[in-house]
Amino acid sequence: MICPKRTSELLDLHLAPFKDKDPAWEVGVSKIAGRGVMATRQLKRGEIIFQDSPLLIGLAAQEEDTLNACSICLKMLPDTRFMCRQGCGLPICSLCAKKKQHKSDCDMFKSWGPNEPDVANSVIIRLLCVARAINLTKDQRDLIYCLQANLDNNHRTEVRNAAKCFKNFPTDKKLVEIMNRTVAVLRTNGFDKTTDRTTDNQEFSYRALYPLFAVMNHDCIPNSYYTFEEKTNNMIVRAAVDIAEGEEITTTYTKLFTGNIARHLYLKMKKGFTCKCSRCSDPTEKGAYISGLYCRDTKCSGLVVPETTGLPHPNWNCLVCKQKSTHAQMMKSQDFASGAINAKVNSNSLRTLVHYLNEKSDSFIPSSNYVVIDAKMSVLQRLAQGREDCNEDLVSSTRLRYSRDIMQIMDKLGLGDSLLRTQLEQQLHKEEERRAKKQLELAAKQRQLADLEQRAAEADKLIALALAADAGAATPVPVAEPAAVAPVAGEAAAVAAPAAEQA
Ligand SMILES: [Zn+2]
Ligand SMILES: [Zn+2]
Ligand SMILES: [Zn+2]
Ligand SMILES: [Zn+2]
Repeated sequence: MICPKRTSELLDLHLAPFKDKDPAWEVGVSKIAGRGVMATRQLKRGEIIFQDSPLLIGLAAQEEDTLNACSICLKMLPDTRFMCRQGCGLPICSLCAKKKQHKSDCDMFKSWGPNEPDVANSVIIRLLCVARAINLTKDQRDLIYCLQANLDNNHRTEVRNAAKCFKNFPTDKKLVEIMNRTVAVLRTNGFDKTTDRTTDNQEFSYRALYPLFAVMNHDCIPNSYYTFEEKTNNMIVRAAVDIAEGEEITTTYTKLFTGNIARHLYLKMKKGFTCKCSRCSDPTEKGAYISGLYCRDTKCSGLVVPETTGLPHPNWNCLVCKQKSTHAQMMKSQDFASGAINAKVNSNSLRTLVHYLNEKSDSFIPSSNYVVIDAKMSVLQRLAQGREDCNEDLVSSTRLRYSRDIMQIMDKLGLGDSLLRTQLEQQLHKEEERRAKKQLELAAKQRQLADLEQRAAEADKLIALALAADAGAATPVPVAEPAAVAPVAGEAAAVAAPAAEQA
């Protein structure tokens, strides 16, 4: 284990520009593994724990990425004439072309002689983040060497492949070793592909090394979360839950909604360790059943979960009838469900997908299963982009329902704050606000209608009264006349008769 004291000294130098006088953290011996970052005092949920700046940062230039992003400011560039005219083989914007950082990159790569400097080459662009380690100060390089590195057989491949793209790639063993070590550190503790940079719907990824973040250990239910400051690329780490003094501050290296077995495999293969956190030791994942599947006995309604999570092929147990199944049998069910749902996710009709998730999928896969959660997340993402041809009611009800579903699973897992939770809460809030506004509008309309109806009723009453009054005044004329004729005549006759008689 590398000495926590030396790591702390080097971190202090790195963080000097913005380190608090009385930091809420310190590097100490961890119960999880080796060193870790510990809370020096009680921390409230949401509180900033520390700020870290990237020691190295550059474009990831992955296969799916567009290569026309500036190698310094990482901003998108027009897709023609974005390469440096000095022949260094790097994409650069006109502003950054004049910066000191580019001069240093430019001089280094020009001296190595890229084979085709005018053509954007992903291998060259990707190497920049690693090659920059050569120009760091000795203390900064020592800090890289202080960080955990998985020195497996593959870690030299990147530099070896990049060497083929230059005419005079350095052969100095020390320089090549610095680059190889940096690759290993980035793969173990850095961000090798962070894709939260989106410009005009074009997404590209970058890789970066945040040294203090790199010292933090992993937990599948992390007690901290991070965001990035756009201008500086600094990382802000906050408490996801209340953290007690002395408690280790943890982060997660995996996606939040992958099942125990998939997380176990990822951490073992990519990060080289076995996680023993509380979620990993619980086959039900705290009752969230992220990898839960239905019992193979069709008469049983129980959920089946892996017996243990520390094995790649565990047996599975039904929680109700206790029937055991092999891993292969359960993977068949999972593969079938994943295939069916992913086909719908890719079918491009959001309406079909939502209908399928709401009405059909529950018959063959529990709604807690990660493939359903992933599908719901992709629906929410598509709704947020607002390009779907769905009616307002479907958009609204789906947004509410899926945000709540996902937050419920987060609550079960005991996940505190995160960027995802903030986004979901915002969606929910916006949707509830919209609904409330709509209801107010509806209520106002109903009041208006009731008002109109009341006025119409009053008008009817008035008309009836007026008619009745009219009728009262006019009755003798039209009504009495014909009836009066005969009696009057009779009367007259009767009257006349006696009168006549009298006469
Ligand atoms: Zn730029
Ligand atoms: Zn250049
Ligand atoms: Zn774990
Ligand atoms: Zn069962």
